[in-house]
Amino acid sequence: MRNIKLNPATNSNILLDKDNIKDFKAITRGEVMLPGDHGYESARKVWNAMIDRKPGLIVRCIGTHDVIQAVNFARDNNLLVAVKGGGHNVAGNAVCDGGIMIDLSLMRSVRVNTTNKTVRVSGGCLLGDVDYETQLHGLAVSAGIVSHTGVAGLTLGGGFGWISRKYGLTVDNLISADVVTAEGKVLTASREENTDLFWGIRGGGGNFGIITSFKFKCAEIGTEVFSGMMIQPFEDAKKYIQFHREYVRKLPDEMTVWMVVRHAPPLPFLPERLHGRMVVAIPFVYLGDRTTGEELIRPIREFGHPHGEAMGMNPWLEWQAGFDGLGSHGARNYWKSHHLEDLSDEVIDKILEFAGKFPSPDCEIFIPHMQGAPSRVAENETAYTFRSTPYVLNIHTRWNDAAEDEKCIAWARDFFENTKPFANGVYVNFISEEGEARVKEAYTHETWGRLTQLKNRYDPTNLFRMNQNIKPSG
Ligand SMILES: Cc1cc2nc3c(=O)[nH]c(=O)nc-3n(C[C@H](O)[C@H](O)[C@H](O)COP(=O)(O)OP(=O)(O)OC[C@H]3O[C@@H](n4cnc5c(N)ncnc54)[C@H](O)[C@@H]3O)c2cc1C
Repeated sequence: MRNIKLNPATNSNILLDKDNIKDFKAITRGEVMLPGDHGYESARKVWNAMIDRKPGLIVRCIGTHDVIQAVNFARDNNLLVAVKGGGHNVAGNAVCDGGIMIDLSLMRSVRVNTTNKTVRVSGGCLLGDVDYETQLHGLAVSAGIVSHTGVAGLTLGGGFGWISRKYGLTVDNLISADVVTAEGKVLTASREENTDLFWGIRGGGGNFGIITSFKFKCAEIGTEVFSGMMIQPFEDAKKYIQFHREYVRKLPDEMTVWMVVRHAPPLPFLPERLHGRMVVAIPFVYLGDRTTGEELIRPIREFGHPHGEAMGMNPWLEWQAGFDGLGSHGARNYWKSHHLEDLSDEVIDKILEFAGKFPSPDCEIFIPHMQGAPSRVAENETAYTFRSTPYVLNIHTRWNDAAEDEKCIAWARDFFENTKPFANGVYVNFISEEGEARVKEAYTHETWGRLTQLKNRYDPTNLFRMNQNIKPSG
């Protein structure tokens, strides 16, 4: 076996000799891979094809024991550490150049407790893993909308989706988590134990340790939900958005209606001539009976001259995977995002101006409506901030050809700068690689101070820094 230089990123001259790696392999129950090993190339890939990093070593853990060994090995050898949950993060923090990638993707067990309606989820699970097991009992965890997203990264940033207006953010449903700290200790964080850590991991990202297991409260939603999509013409977008901004804010928490400005996918209910045309797509989910749901969305169906619609009682598992194709692995992605207090006429004009010059046909402007149960939780209850801003403006820039990187990124940045005057904060999970000042904008000043104190306590050497990083102040 060869010597490998593991820490080019920090310029440290650490060479692990073959005995050192052999010893590490001997105490690891999962797989340890070096460049050139079978499986290394696929293991280092993450969702965003813009990210092409080559770790010095990849360890695919199969349990908490492996995670502890990997953390100890990394710390003792001064290695740069990246932690992979689902590998979905747009910034690509799940993989590093040089250093060690601690990959949890083999840790995907899900155990439902039907008596108290809770679920225990391992640190490498994807959202679909949780949906499949909980749905056996008509249960669900409030989380995101694409089934191949990782539970860990999503939860650590906050987590929202189709049922969060009714049931709260993913962090609001977190009961406890097992955390491997930088010291290699396992701590349980909950309302009863290590309460400071419990506060921090609910929004503060992967800064404080590696979560090997989460326990969530489940919602009893049944196995089918009244859901669907309506399509409005882009030509009427301004009028529609003006209507939408007022209308969604009057809806009960059971009804979630979002909005996406994009080129129409080849949806079976749309005439072929509209495929690829710019449209406003309006997907919705209603947690209740069909008749009431239909009554609630009637104003949208009757607004203007819609292109088409499809709706019905859809199996939750199908609905949760319905958007997977639009966010599939392997494309190049660059995201920008804001929280918005209002969809004012000026913001709408900017949205339509930039939608009119999409740099690629796969781009979209995604506008979820957020208020509901999350806004009724006190702001200082969790590290997740900006609970009462009503809208998110997500600039999803997506393309395939590396030659278009510059054009696509420039468009996103320009759009972002043009809408920044209307913004109030950002969701940490939607930040690309944008530096510390931007990470701070995901939190209030007070929350940032508290997170820094927590970092000083649990990770004073910043071992866990491949994330939206909160530096220790020492
Ligand atoms: C197509 C798509 C759809 C999305 N939809 C939603 C949505 O509906 N709602 C929503 O809230 N968000 C959504 N997101 C954003 C998503 O929450 C983030 O991308 C999140 O970081 C993904 O988590 P992951 O585990 O897959 O990511 P990873 O890239 O594996 O990790 C993200 C960060 O978390 C850290 N991390 C991962 N696992 C652990 C662990 N076990 N312990 C400690 N740290 C860890 C990593 O080191 C990294 O810093 C979406 C993202 C994409 C790409």
